Amino acid sequence: MIQSLKSQFLESKDSLGYNTAIDAIRKEQYPQLKDSIYLDHAGATLPAQHLLQRFSADLYSNLYANPHSKSPSSQATSARVDSARRKILEHFKASIHGEWDVIFTANATAGIKLVGEAFPWTRRSSSATASMANETRPASKLMILQEAHTSLVGLRGLAQDAEGCFEIETISKNQLEQRLLSAQAKVHCSPPSSIKPHHPSPPPSPNASTSDLIGIPSSAMLEEPVYNLFAYPAQCNFGGRRFPLSWTSQIKNQLDTRTTKNLVLLDAASYAMTAELDLSDYSKSPDFIVVSFYKMFGFPTGLGAVIVKTELGPKLRKGYFGGGTVSAITSDEPWQVYRPSIHGRFEDGTLNFLDIVALDLAFDSIREIYGSYSNISPHVTALHRLMYKSMKGLKHYNGAPLCDIYVDGEDQDEKIMESQLVGDPEAYGPILNFNLKRSNGKWIGYGDVDRLAGMKNIHVRTGGFCNPGSMQRWLNLSADEVKKNLEAGHVCWDDTDILNGKPTGSVRVSLGAMSTVDEVLNFISFLEEYFIDYSDPDAAALSEDLIGETVDIEDSTASTPVEVDSVIIYPIKSCRGYKVPRGKSWPIAPHGLLYDREWMLVDDVTGGALTQKRYPRMCMIRAEIHLEQNLMVVEHDQDVNGADSNRNKNRIYISLDDMPAESAKRPSTVCGDCTAVLHYTSPEINEWFSKFLDKPCHLARQPVISQNPVTHPSSADKALPQPTPGPSRFVKSHLNAPEGAPILLSNESPFLLIADKSVERVRDWVDEQDQGQGAVRRLANLSEDLDKKLRHEFTSDSFRANFVTKGQQLGFEEDHWVRIQIGQQVFDVNSRSLPSVPYGDDRPIDRYEEYGRIFGPFEEPQECKGK
Ligand SMILES: *Cc1c(COP(=O)(O)O)cnc(C)c1O
Repeated sequence: MIQSLKSQFLESKDSLGYNTAIDAIRKEQYPQLKDSIYLDHAGATLPAQHLLQRFSADLYSNLYANPHSKSPSSQATSARVDSARRKILEHFKASIHGEWDVIFTANATAGIKLVGEAFPWTRRSSSATASMANETRPASKLMILQEAHTSLVGLRGLAQDAEGCFEIETISKNQLEQRLLSAQAKVHCSPPSSIKPHHPSPPPSPNASTSDLIGIPSSAMLEEPVYNLFAYPAQCNFGGRRFPLSWTSQIKNQLDTRTTKNLVLLDAASYAMTAELDLSDYSKSPDFIVVSFYKMFGFPTGLGAVIVKTELGPKLRKGYFGGGTVSAITSDEPWQVYRPSIHGRFEDGTLNFLDIVALDLAFDSIREIYGSYSNISPHVTALHRLMYKSMKGLKHYNGAPLCDIYVDGEDQDEKIMESQLVGDPEAYGPILNFNLKRSNGKWIGYGDVDRLAGMKNIHVRTGGFCNPGSMQRWLNLSADEVKKNLEAGHVCWDDTDILNGKPTGSVRVSLGAMSTVDEVLNFISFLEEYFIDYSDPDAAALSEDLIGETVDIEDSTASTPVEVDSVIIYPIKSCRGYKVPRGKSWPIAPHGLLYDREWMLVDDVTGGALTQKRYPRMCMIRAEIHLEQNLMVVEHDQDVNGADSNRNKNRIYISLDDMPAESAKRPSTVCGDCTAVLHYTSPEINEWFSKFLDKPCHLARQPVISQNPVTHPSSADKALPQPTPGPSRFVKSHLNAPEGAPILLSNESPFLLIADKSVERVRDWVDEQDQGQGAVRRLANLSEDLDKKLRHEFTSDSFRANFVTKGQQLGFEEDHWVRIQIGQQVFDVNSRSLPSVPYGDDRPIDRYEEYGRIFGPFEEPQECKGK
């Protein structure tokens, strides 16, 4: 399928610009990408083997000392640093004859901070004693484009200092274009006038010095003009939108006045990733450009630069100064003279000189591999278009689109515009940002997409992308909602992906020079496989008696029929399961078997879920569900020494309708993830568990709200209309969980299955290992009594399977199943989530419990022999 789509693409005109040598390049240069689908180039692209080998060879064969000295090794370093500066200017087509300078920084963010701190802000004094002159002089204004990365937005933090403040404005693309248009109209209608007519500037003096390169005759002014700063990204790291580079000259031409000058800071960190910025036209170029080199080359990390117009040198302010930035200095008087060059003045401390050597090589390396940096953009553009079109084409059974992609032109009348924009490198860089929707229009949490992609070795990025403006705009979140979400406990990097019916973040995929058509098509196929509803997911709750049903295994080579021996649910996580009686049908809800793992025990102190691993006595607690009585009956086995003979005391009854009060809602941790659960407050219930486990704890429930018309099974169930066997999937069922239940206690796999033969083999193996030495007990920290019990009951229950099958010959066959059908239910088998824990001398029992949570849980037992 993918192969045919691939040839279709390669033969179509859509592939124009696609680098057909990429498969070979990738194999040779990027072995780290083997078997991975890497779609996070906007986070960081990947270093080529060519570069890393050249770099290490360079370091082995050359002696590099700290620069700023006269020794040959120090001079060698300085030469490489100069060469790298020059290559940066050449790469950006900037003149190398002194108009520009390059300041090395730790990353793009540090470059932005440097510009903000050095910028000649005019501040309005906030104190009441401010002089009149100061009052009449306008303050500088910092204008930031809405789509700015947090690193630009952070300039806001400089707005206020001891001297006063400058103004801040966040502006959208449309607002800016409107303003430029109306300013242009004014320029045409009347000669430019100063902002404050009552305070006119003196006329230009005839002998104005040409040394003032800002364009204002210096001696003509009583005072320096007020400098404003416009800061914007050349490409938005959130959704890939690119912004006109012509803005610089438009802003200067139309908004500059005799007293106010606008300087432009361009954040090219994301843009430079795959596109080439052209600074050849000096007067139309921004004044400061920041870049980050891991985004361009994958290596070195920790190195960025500010490319700055040299003429601005005298205007830039230097506060803190560190090693290497002064030409002369006294220790007993506050006197120092800075180095003359801008970079000399602003590079505090020793440069990251070895990484600069790597950078010097990186430019050549790219040329060696790709011919030219300019070949990258057409390649990623072709893939970007393919990815966008394919994602747009993904539809649910009812025609509802799967992907809500955040690109401009979504408005009704701009539909055509949008599809034309995405494939146009002027408008978009190779990024797509989106959220997924179910067929009923509800959001699929980005956390689910991330986790499932991870299982398939697909690398995407999720969250808010350090881009508050884009996030709020596209996710339609007001500032108030963002604040409320924080109050509800959501922070940028947590797992709360949907709050109040709205996504709190999104999914981003991005392409780079070494991306391939296979990666794009595999990603599309992943979306298709896991998220498309082929039938109504809400109609999936039906009751079926699956016991005794044969298991139809796709591509099975087995000759004997496999059938379901038992169906087990585990109402309380980590406690004993309840075997559904033979002949009884059990409701199947979207998230799994009804009431399976819906309750858990929570540590009173830590708020974490108790596990059998830590509290082995939990395996003596048994919960049964009596659907007809609407009751959960919990009992514990008597201790073997029989202290407790009153059987009634050992039981509690909990109504299935009993939803703990909303007010008792607290976050709880299940497998490291955050999930909202309701906590029981009844002392009777909580003391019962605490006493038995000898551990202060309480019962909690994660209700599955959409148990909507789950008809409790009765004999009438058999008369239910049989659904057509549509695909119903392990992981997908989880995604169909109702809103507000981002992670169910049942984890990623709603149904767990094991073959009786596999259990038997593990039991044999443990017996063999044990040889009466009590190894099981020791390994699991069990009491002797419990050990006896366990040994006796070492069954499928220990592996927490929902379905136990019989009829296999050897055991472990289920590891290889891909898709099975039991009764009317079709399941995809997900064995990918198996953790690859090497067998060592850690505790196998731990792994049983872990492995038992998932399909096909075992490594070959022989591997453990003798360890
Ligand atoms: C990545 C990125 C940054 C931050 O770059 P660092 O080098 O990590 O500081 C800033 N702006 C944009 C647009 C980016 O994509």
